[in-house]
Amino acid sequence: MLYNELGKTGLEVSRLGFGTMRLPTINSNADIDESEASAMLKYGIENGINIIDTAFPYHSVGIDGNGNSERFVGEFLKENDLRDEILLHTKSPSWLIEKKEDFDTYLDLQLEKLQTDYVDIYLLHSLTVPDWYKVKDLEVLDFLDECLSSGKVKHVGFSSHIEVDYLIEILDEYPKWEVVMTQMNYLDEYYQSGVMGLDYLKEVKVGSMIMEPLRGGRLVNNIPDEVQKLWDMAETKRTPVEWALQYLWNRDDVDCVFSGMTSLEQVKQNIEIASTIDKISPYDQELIREVARTYRTFLGNRCTRCGYCMPCPHGVDIINCLTEYNIAHMMGDPKASAMQYFTLIDDDSRADSCIDCKECLPFCTQMIDIPKELQRVYEYFGSEFDHF
Ligand code: SF4
Ligand code: SF4
Repeated sequence: MLYNELGKTGLEVSRLGFGTMRLPTINSNADIDESEASAMLKYGIENGINIIDTAFPYHSVGIDGNGNSERFVGEFLKENDLRDEILLHTKSPSWLIEKKEDFDTYLDLQLEKLQTDYVDIYLLHSLTVPDWYKVKDLEVLDFLDECLSSGKVKHVGFSSHIEVDYLIEILDEYPKWEVVMTQMNYLDEYYQSGVMGLDYLKEVKVGSMIMEPLRGGRLVNNIPDEVQKLWDMAETKRTPVEWALQYLWNRDDVDCVFSGMTSLEQVKQNIEIASTIDKISPYDQELIREVARTYRTFLGNRCTRCGYCMPCPHGVDIINCLTEYNIAHMMGDPKASAMQYFTLIDDDSRADSCIDCKECLPFCTQMIDIPKELQRVYEYFGSEFDHF
């Protein structure tokens, strides 16, 4: 295993972190196959992984529920006497916070589930811009100060899918942020906070943790022929998993990559890759860019996310509606994109809020008929009821 310094935390983290949101299950998502999951965690730790990521809702029945991932991780660490060997990383469910006291209520419940007195890293989970303003009004920064001084939490940060401007705004408001988790893979360099976000994290010495390195497995399953032909031209032959992970570990602004692993075989494979120094040549780096360009040819519309059409006077999140539609076409996984569409975009900002006023049309740099595209997005994803 290879290790990196995590920003200014003083921690050394394995460059592969163990994500526990996709553990093997038996009958339902809430029903973790504990024997298989324990074997995976044990192998991971014995082979150098020193950080585990979990969160309040992972492995719950509903999206806002109290999940079993934290409970399982807590039991595993206790039974194997591993708590002090591992950096434990969990997250406050920011969307569930309604009043100031809720911060403490959830943290105490999480510590109980995890069977520990402290967590090493505590993030505000999946922070959206409205949730950031909400928790700020509820004095979240005072709560974080108290967590740090009481020792219940050693380092604080946030995870988010927001755009880079908001990421920077939040980072600049609190000098004690030490860790941020963002989505990154070779397709997402300019999606959400992307490479610009990573660049800023490096500049301010905040540890960078990566989620979705394989885009939920979509960069490694059902590889289109056009993409495979490109991989076959590489100077160094790699598997799709190696391409995706080594792309990240070739970046000097990435500290730790979390992979949500589902089988022991995946753990073994990822550890082997994480233990190998594999410098990607300039030719192969260009090939990765070509693969990304090829995936983009499968897009559903031409939106470049330039943002000139925003804000919509009626509150439609034009960029993310068109983007999730694009991703669904590009990656061929409509269910996963629907999940993103309905969880990342607020009720009032989805495609069905467009009233066809056409005020955005003159601003589109790609001459997209935006209301028409939004109608397609609406027809494609349907209503939330169809999916959950
Ligand atoms: S046409 Fe739709 S997306 Fe465009 S400005 Fe009007 S409501 Fe907003
Ligand atoms: S102006 Fe056009 S291309 Fe730019 S974000 Fe809006 S819809 Fe997309």
